[in-house]
Amino acid sequence: MGSGEVRVLPVPGASVVARAHAKVNLALRVGGLRPDRSHELVTVFEAVSLPEDVRASPSRGLECAVTGEGAEHVPVDERNLAVRAALLLAERAGVPPRVRLDITKTVPVAGGMAGGSADAAAALVACDALWGTGLGREDLLALGGELGADVPFALLGGTAVGTGRGEQVVPALARGERSWVLALSASGLSTPAVYGELDRRRGEAGRAAAGAALDVDETAVHELLQALRAGDAAAVGAALVNDLQEPALALAPHLATTLQVGLEAGAVAALVSGSGPTTAFLVDGREQGLAVAVALAASGAAADVRRVTGPVHGARVVDVGR
Ligand code: ATP
Repeated sequence: MGSGEVRVLPVPGASVVARAHAKVNLALRVGGLRPDRSHELVTVFEAVSLPEDVRASPSRGLECAVTGEGAEHVPVDERNLAVRAALLLAERAGVPPRVRLDITKTVPVAGGMAGGSADAAAALVACDALWGTGLGREDLLALGGELGADVPFALLGGTAVGTGRGEQVVPALARGERSWVLALSASGLSTPAVYGELDRRRGEAGRAAAGAALDVDETAVHELLQALRAGDAAAVGAALVNDLQEPALALAPHLATTLQVGLEAGAVAALVSGSGPTTAFLVDGREQGLAVAVALAASGAAADVRRVTGPVHGARVVDVGR
């Protein structure tokens, strides 16, 4: 047994570990409100090397335990997205939901990096292998979309375009590897609160107009996709865009200083990750990454920093054992 991908046939009594990763939105354009009150999005996701591991072990019932980054803030009952993933898979596959889920987190909770969605994706893959339900990738993507808008991307990984609520994902052509410094915050930001602030800032008229047209400005997204295809880091940096950045900064004004500190330390570009409060700094190589990380940590502008790379893989089995 070791790390790396393992092709799994269920071994009676064995447990299965699946790994998925955090995401950064390289582009996030938010359109109007849909009839179900969710927002129409066009986004470009990139999976980055902050892993979430879910071990699925045989059990008499459904149990869940969480350790690692922010574990004390994560519910272990049916509010946990991984638990909901296991229940949904069991129901659709017609098997009893007998599993113990041990989640090991490295993604900050409520950090705008979709750690919970990564747990759901990893739980789907791990339980699928444990129970031998043999669902195809398309089936898992559909189940993921029912669980949450970011779950299909956590299954897919890599670099991808998301539309709809973000749940309709298509791989994007992207050349090369990118280095990022992530600045973590001491407290989280609620995703619905950030969308609410966006709606408030757009005002009644903006909401109605956007809602009627479901209109998303995709120009910046096309520029970004071109830069990714060319593997041009400077052009990728110039094309990063996040419509949730201003509302996130309104709710957490200290993030403006964080962005400034990282840029002054030499980052190619910076943006709020998803709904925040994590901020992401695109850096050119190891030395620049170190300089940015040190500046962020030393200034107190970040509660903690992580240096990561992307793209990395989507949810997959990485270990099998007793
Ligand atoms: P998103 O941007 O998709 O909302 P996020 O990274 O901001 O994601 P998460 O850490 O995924 O936020 O989760 C937000 C909330 O969901 C948490 O406050 C927590 O109460 C709840 N939650 C449910 N399941 C999980 C899980 N497995 N891991 C983390 N949080 C979870």
